[in-house]
Amino acid sequence: RVLVGTKVDEGHENYVTAYNMLTGIRFTVSRTNAKPDRNLTDDDFTQKHKFSFDITGNELTPSARYDFKFKDYAPWVFRRLRASFGIDPAEYLMSLTSKYILSELGSPGKSGSFFYFSRDYKYIIKTIHRGEHKFLRRILKQYYEHVRSNPNTLLSQFYGLHRVKLPYGKKIHFVVMNNLFPPHRDIHGTYDLKGSTIGRLYDESELKSNPRATLKDLNWLNRGLKLEFGRQKQEIFITQLKKDVALLQQLKIMDYSLLVGIHDVQRGNEDNLRDKTLQVFQPGGDKHDEQQQTPTTPGVLTRTPSKIEHARRVRELRESVKKERPTPLDAATALMPEDDAMRRKGYFYREDGGFRATNADNHPGATIYYLGIIDCLTRYSTLKKAEHFWKGMGGHEGQISAIPPVRYGERFVKFISGLMKTPAEMPESEKREEVG
Ligand code: ATP
Ligand code: CA
Ligand code: CA
Repeated sequence: RVLVGTKVDEGHENYVTAYNMLTGIRFTVSRTNAKPDRNLTDDDFTQKHKFSFDITGNELTPSARYDFKFKDYAPWVFRRLRASFGIDPAEYLMSLTSKYILSELGSPGKSGSFFYFSRDYKYIIKTIHRGEHKFLRRILKQYYEHVRSNPNTLLSQFYGLHRVKLPYGKKIHFVVMNNLFPPHRDIHGTYDLKGSTIGRLYDESELKSNPRATLKDLNWLNRGLKLEFGRQKQEIFITQLKKDVALLQQLKIMDYSLLVGIHDVQRGNEDNLRDKTLQVFQPGGDKHDEQQQTPTTPGVLTRTPSKIEHARRVRELRESVKKERPTPLDAATALMPEDDAMRRKGYFYREDGGFRATNADNHPGATIYYLGIIDCLTRYSTLKKAEHFWKGMGGHEGQISAIPPVRYGERFVKFISGLMKTPAEMPESEKREEVG
């Protein structure tokens, strides 16, 4: 299985699917945004709307290049979620406009999910299984309430849940979510951490051919890495982590990871990795853990519009949103300058899109961390129970990843907490340098 990140342009085998995804998102999101804001009802969580697209168009949907059906799930809930996460409606549409093609990261392991970046690299479209899709719908209310009461959650930020159905009947479910990594910063190291040791080693001899690979728990431990936060940030981070994990435990979710991207401020962007490839990770599934990983070919985003062109299109979109949205509240959201939207971003995403290291005395350190809990739609299902049974026969529970959700969460929190630099490990010299 080769993981290839490629631009999805005409001729690419998934071009039509990607085009349909973007066309459907654009249509349904504009449709919902055009209505005046209102409070959610219980029905909003189970809503689904079906649309038929074809070449001629009809009174409901505009013409599209291909025939396909599109389903939009809980549009009002996701509109609210996007607002909670500080997503500017016009920017969101801009990023996912069908004019600009996505880049595809191929199909990773076990899950078989495909990953696509929006052309500006801000969003990820991940195709998900029907089971994950049904599960997300089932837990949507709890997820929503958690996000509302935890504006700084570290959990994956879901912005939309949709389904494309191709004429021959194939159904593709997908979510739109945040790319944890910033478009404007090189990421010098990526780790996918679960708190398990079995199969959690990426073969580092492959780093030569794939320097951007996602490393795992054992690579982190072998390198003796630490998360460098002063007491205040440590406390805020661990408190949030525990709250998020408590929800995952309650929903019987497991197998999630803390994804950590490390940007070394001193090194900056000198490697200029983004411009050449705009590609910072190789998605890797657990099924790869015991297998050899195949290097990723860098994915290239197609046709990045010039700044001026971009600004003009955002203006146009804002204008159109403004016209269709009469209530002051909506207009305010639609017209909110990018900076304001940024300011509403959660605590862990507001320092250059991430969370900056601090020394013992709370002075900023030389690292920016990009952190989030990802892959959190796996329920401790019968499948996992089977895996637990088989692996459990020969292994130590602390080492295997398929353990029940409560224990999985406990182990996860314990592991991540253990990665923090203790005050004693924080060099006094740094402190003195800062002061003197
Ligand atoms: P599996 O179930 O086999 O673990 P999966 O297909 O469900 O795989 P994920 O675990 O969600 O995939 O993600 C795989 C990799 O993709 C991650 O290790 C990470 O490198 C990258 N990735 C996933 N989500 C994000 C995100 N929101 N931002 C940045 N990178 C991400
Ligand atoms: Ca995973
Ligand atoms: Ca998964």
